[in-house]
Order: sequence, then structure tokens, then C-alpha cells
Amino acid sequence: MVATGEIEGILAEYNKADMSVATIGSHSALNIFKGAREEGLRTVCLCAKGKEKVYKNFGLVDEFIMLDNLSDISNQDVVDRLIELNSIVVPHGSFNAYLDQKQMNDWPVPMLGTRKLLEVETSRTKQHSWLKSSGLNVPKIYKDINDLDGGLAFVKFEGAKGGKGYFIADNEASYNKKIGMMLKSGLITKEESERPYIQEYIIGVNTYPHYFYSRLTDEIELMGVDKRYESSVDGVFRIPVPEQIGQEISPTFTIVGNFPMVLRESLLGEIFTIGEKIVKKSKKLAPPGLFGPFCLEMIIKENLDIVVFEISTRIVAGCNALIGQSPYTYLKYDEPMYMGRRIAREIKNAAIQDKLHMVSD
Ligand code: AMP
Ligand code: AMP
Repeated sequence: MVATGEIEGILAEYNKADMSVATIGSHSALNIFKGAREEGLRTVCLCAKGKEKVYKNFGLVDEFIMLDNLSDISNQDVVDRLIELNSIVVPHGSFNAYLDQKQMNDWPVPMLGTRKLLEVETSRTKQHSWLKSSGLNVPKIYKDINDLDGGLAFVKFEGAKGGKGYFIADNEASYNKKIGMMLKSGLITKEESERPYIQEYIIGVNTYPHYFYSRLTDEIELMGVDKRYESSVDGVFRIPVPEQIGQEISPTFTIVGNFPMVLRESLLGEIFTIGEKIVKKSKKLAPPGLFGPFCLEMIIKENLDIVVFEISTRIVAGCNALIGQSPYTYLKYDEPMYMGRRIAREIKNAAIQDKLHMVSD
């Protein structure tokens, strides 16, 4: 982990009138760059060679730092340039997906978010215990498929990217059969198959609210809500049931895109309460706690109970469906507002108030 005080020392030297927002060119970078542009901040793209086409095309990047490999972000010349440009790095989903956790923790560059909490995302067990100890409804976890007391189990694997290899089972026989299918098709390895994460399958509507917690104003904002479109689970319903059975399809959950959602208004109170509980608990778990963008993955059941099964302690790609505005930001702001811009606004305000330490770790 970067030494205590190291980031604050770097921030103290920053020219607060000449700030940059930097991120890796992928995931939600366009959202982040557009927001920074609209707030008058410089944009810096850490770009893997071969990925520059999209980022050049949209014309939102002021400076490209080209990398042979993403892991080169720790090279001294890259670190020096980021600091020279007074950068705050905004982490997104590709950071945890493609970079080594230790490298992230040791990276001596100011990042938006508390590093210890950004790391929680890489462990299902840690996420589950945070959600549960915050007093939220969470899915049951089973040590063994035989512990299932009716209902369905959702079986996940630690290494599985994008939900590949996940499956649903209702007893030991169907569990063993599906494990065999996953191994045969190469979706999971033998080693992964020996460490399943067996969760209660919750039937309801998958919902992904995006929150922003400002340490400057001590306020939680609801920035928007999205739903995901996943392959093949969302495509499988186009096939009539007899053919589905014949094909023995085991749907996968590879994310393909997102669409905006608005919630029944009477659910909003609970959505805010859930966000408040998470932020409150985070302050005890890893001071100063969660701040900036975060998202909770939840399922809303038919009785309107909300079960929360995952947390992202950073901007999520679902926010890209709401670049420009969401119904909720339209209600709150008299100008276009969306996650990338809200992030930049916070960085700008922190710079103006000489409180950059409150938006970075
Ligand atoms: P990518 O750079 O597109 O490979 O994405 C990096 C990580 O973010 C992967 O773990 C993806 O599963 C996740 N991700 C990418 N796009 C989305 C999206 N639109 N919604 C949810 N997760 C996403
Ligand atoms: P994940 O990779 O954990 O985000 O999950 C992939 C997909 O499975 C998403 O569409 C989730 O909404 C869904 N999902 C995850 N956990 C559960 C659960 N316990 N019950 C029902 N669906 C779930």
C-alpha cells in the first residue's frame, strides 16, 4: 500500500487551478472524459496500444499516455507525467479486471476512492460481509449444495469473468451434471470447480442503482438506475421451451450492454436508506470510508423486498446509459448532470476549496 501521507504530500504540490482527470481508456472512460471536459478539467487517457481508435474518434482526450501493456502504468515516466499534470485517476471496472491488486495498492498516484474499499470488490466473501453487516438483505450462502432447503442455488466461480460458467441448480444431481457440462465446455477449470460459491437464487427484477456520496457536502445522491442485457441469459427466452429443453442450454451472463431504468417512486426511500447504511458502515470498515461513485447490485422481489448481492466501489458501466442526464439528475440539477460530470465537479470543488485529500487516496 502507498505509504500513509504519500498521496497527501503529492496533492499538496498540485497546481489546483490546472487539474487533470486521468483514467484507462476502456469501460466508462468516455463518460469520465466528457464530464471532465464539461467541468473545464484536462483529460488524460492511459491507453493500451491498439485501443486508441475509439478515444481519438470522440475527441475528448487532451493527452494520451500510450502503454505497451496496462501494467506499465507503474513505470516511473508514467507516474511522473500524471503527477506533473496534477492528475486524479478515476478507477473503473477495467482496473480490477485487468490489473494486479498489489500494483493498484502501491501505485503512487492520487486515485478517487479509498484503496482498501476498491480492493473489496475482488473478494465475494468480503463484499458479502460488508453488505450483511450494514444490515441489508443478502442472499443466503450455502457451504454445500445439499444445504439447499428448497428453491434454487446460483453457483458462481471466483475466476469466472462476466458470469461465464455460472449456473443454476436445484439439487445435488443437477449440480453435478452442470459442473460436468461446465468442465467439458472449458468454461471453468478443475481447480475452480472445487471452490464453488453457492448462493441462494433470488427471483425478481435485477436493478443497479448508481450512487454518489460527496464528502464535501456529506450527501448521497441517486444518479441513475440501469438494467443489464446479458448473453445468453437474456436471449434464451426467444427460444420456445421445448427447443430450450432439447438443447440443454445453461445460460451465461456475459454483459453486452445496459439500458436506463426508473423505479417505482415508493421504492426510492428504501434505495436511499440502503445507500446510507453502506456508507455508514464503510466509515468503520476502512476510514475515511466510501466516497464518490458506487453501485449496488440488487434484486427486487415480488413483495418489493430488496436483496443486495454485490457492490462496486467505483463508477459502473451502467452509468454510460445515462451520459447527459438521468431522470433523477434532471430532478436535482438545473443543468445536464451524469456520473462522469459529477465526479469532475467534485474534484473541481475540492481543488477550489483546497480539500483534494477528501477526494483521493
Ligand atoms: P471491459 O474493459 O469491457 O472488458 O470491462 C472491464 C470489466 O467491467 C469486466 O469485468 C466487465 O465484465 C465489466 N463491464 C464492462 N462493461 C460493463 C457493463 N456495460 N456493465 C457491467 N459491467 C461491465
Ligand atoms: P454477477 O457476475 O455476480 O454480477 O452476476 C451475473 C448475473 O447474475 C447478473 O445478471 C445478476 O443480476 C445475476 N445474479 C447474481 N447473483 C444472483 C442471485 N443470487 N440470484 C439471482 N440472480 C443473481
